[in-house]
Amino acid sequence: MFEIIFLGTSASAPSARRGLSAQVVKRDEYRFLIDCGEGTQRQILQAGIGFRRLNHILITHGHLDHILGLGGLLSTFLRWESIDQLEIFGGKGALERISDLLYGVVLRGANPPMPLHLREISSGVFFDGGDFTISAFPVMHRGQDCLGYLFEERGRRPFLPEKAEALGIPQGPWRKNLVEGQPANLPDGRVIQPEEVLGPFRPGTRLVHVGDVGQTDSLLEICRDADTLVIEATYLQSEAEMARQFAHLTARQAAELAIRAGVRQLILTHISRRYREKDVLAEAQAVFPNTVVARDFDTYTVKRDIL
Ligand SMILES: [Zn+2]
Ligand SMILES: [Zn+2]
Repeated sequence: MFEIIFLGTSASAPSARRGLSAQVVKRDEYRFLIDCGEGTQRQILQAGIGFRRLNHILITHGHLDHILGLGGLLSTFLRWESIDQLEIFGGKGALERISDLLYGVVLRGANPPMPLHLREISSGVFFDGGDFTISAFPVMHRGQDCLGYLFEERGRRPFLPEKAEALGIPQGPWRKNLVEGQPANLPDGRVIQPEEVLGPFRPGTRLVHVGDVGQTDSLLEICRDADTLVIEATYLQSEAEMARQFAHLTARQAAELAIRAGVRQLILTHISRRYREKDVLAEAQAVFPNTVVARDFDTYTVKRDIL
C-alpha cells in the first residue's frame, strides 16, 4: 500500500487555492517528495508531514514550476530544519538546472548543511525498498530527460492458512518457512513444499506518477493495470491544439490513456487556472468514470483492491 498526499496541484503558476507541483508518496517509514514547485515547504508544514524524513526527492523535469521550491527548501535546511542527507533524483537536464539553483544561487560557495547528492537517472529501477521498488521511465514533454515514476510492490504468492490446516502443519517456524518459499520439515518427518500452501501469484500494488507530458502512446505499457495513475491534465479538449503545441495533455487524453491501459483509478493534477475544476472532471469522467481531480492536501491510499 502507498499513500499519496498532494501538496501542489496547479499548472505553471499558483492560483489562490492551488500551489505548484509537489506531492509526497508515503510507504512505511519512507517519504518521497515528487517535484518541488515554489512554496512547497509551506505546504509541507501545513500538511503536517515534517521535514526529517524527506530525504528522497524525485524530479519529473526541470521546468521552473516543478523545481523552484528546492531553493527555499535548502535555505530552510541551512537554518531551521535538519535532515541526515538529501538525495535528488532526476534526468540530466533537470539536475543541471537544480545544480545551478542550489549551488549557484542558494549556497554560493558554502557547503550544504547535509550530504547532498544529485543522482542522475534514466530508465529502470533506481530505488529498492525491499518489498517495493521505484523505477523511472521516459516521458515526452518539452526538453530532454523528462521522467515518470512507477512505485511497485513486489508481487507474492499468499499463504493459505486453510491449506496449512488441512495438511496439519503446526503453528510456528514451519509456517514461516513456507511463507518465505522454503520447504518445511515437520516434526512428524513429513516435508511440505511451499507450492502446497501458497496461492497463485498476485502482483503488488502499482502507482504510476506522470508529470507534464505531451503524448500518451509510449506510456501505455507502463500504465497497464496500474491501481492508480496520477497524471497531468493541463488543458481541455476545446484547446487541444494548444495542448499539443506546449506538449501537455487534455483531460480527455488523460482519461483515454487510463481506459486503454486498464488502470483502476485516475487522479488528475497540474490543473490550469484557466478552467473550472468541474469542467476538467466532467471531461475526463465522460471517458473514464473513476477519475478525481486532486486538490492541495488531498490524500489517497493506493492498494490492490481499491475497487
Ligand atoms: Zn509544469
Ligand atoms: Zn513542464
